[in-house]
Amino acid sequence: MKTKAATIVRPEILELAAYHVPDASGMIKLDAMENPYRLPASLRGELAQRLVDVHANRYPQPSADALRDKLREVMRVPAGAEIMLGNGSDELIDIVTVACARPNAKVMSPWPSFVMYDLSARLAGAKFVPIDLDRDFKLDVDRFLMAMKAHRPAIVWLSHPNNPTGQLFSDAAIEAVLREAPGLVVVDEAYFAFANTSFMHRLDEFPNLVVMRTLSKSGLAGIRLGYLAGHAEWVREFDKARPPYNVNTLTQTFGLFALQHSKVLDEQAARLRTERARLHEALAALPGVTVWPSAANFLLFRVNDALGVFERLKSRKVLVKFLGKMHPLLGGCLRVTVSTPEENALFLDALRASLHA
Ligand SMILES: *Cc1c(COP(=O)(O)O)cnc(C)c1O
Repeated sequence: MKTKAATIVRPEILELAAYHVPDASGMIKLDAMENPYRLPASLRGELAQRLVDVHANRYPQPSADALRDKLREVMRVPAGAEIMLGNGSDELIDIVTVACARPNAKVMSPWPSFVMYDLSARLAGAKFVPIDLDRDFKLDVDRFLMAMKAHRPAIVWLSHPNNPTGQLFSDAAIEAVLREAPGLVVVDEAYFAFANTSFMHRLDEFPNLVVMRTLSKSGLAGIRLGYLAGHAEWVREFDKARPPYNVNTLTQTFGLFALQHSKVLDEQAARLRTERARLHEALAALPGVTVWPSAANFLLFRVNDALGVFERLKSRKVLVKFLGKMHPLLGGCLRVTVSTPEENALFLDALRASLHA
């Protein structure tokens, strides 16, 4: 049966390819920056009891007050800032973009960076303007400021550290963007647990700054919980574009419990930072491999015949991310999530065996 989808659905949507999540069954999964550690079994038992007590017959509490208060405390959100929660920070990217997408609005980001900035702009009918990083994946500040002058973006996204390069932009670069931006600047700190720097404590300094984070990379990717913090005037408006029950009761309960045991998450992140240094050293020592510094829980590296290496790793049951086709600057690049000592060793063995056909 033929439908009219092709003539009714917007052309921007028709030309998109659906977000592809590769099958990872039976694989060592190092493609999506997941934390390999779960909560300890004793805590999971305690959590199970709390989840049993949830009133699933009722709608979630729309404002999720207890969870927001706990986030404010644990994440040291400044007293003057407001917090909004999202069903993952992916949803927050959508909400902010929809809220700011006036006719002809532009959205800008250094590029390559997180693909959702681009996708959300397209879905909202805004124009996405990517500004290329330099060869070492650094931000060319002068070029970026000039582009802001020319395009007057409503939103600038700064993934800090940047996915997929792993690098932080310099504080001075971000400050310059904040000072010169004609609109909102969102510093996306999805990897805050692995970077020892943040703009959270500087919200009072910059009225156009919003800081966004997620618990996904800190061990809770499955519950889908992101948050943003910023001046009340921004958050009040964004909140109108938020579906009222966007963070479900199970997620609110789980998130609150995890934050009450935030030491566990902190310890896991510390272990992964140690492993990151070891993995970086091991990759740097391999002939024919170039690896970049990272402030996140993944490493970007370049090899000859990256697609071949990717496929050979896959045949050895190790799944990494092939980035060679995403952007010319990423030619020959693969991205690997930092995992447990055991999985990292298996990855390195598989990589050594996969570097040559
Ligand atoms: C993973 C990631 C997100 C999205 O996280 P979710 O909360 O899982 O939706 C946002 N920004 C960046 C830069 C990311 O890498």
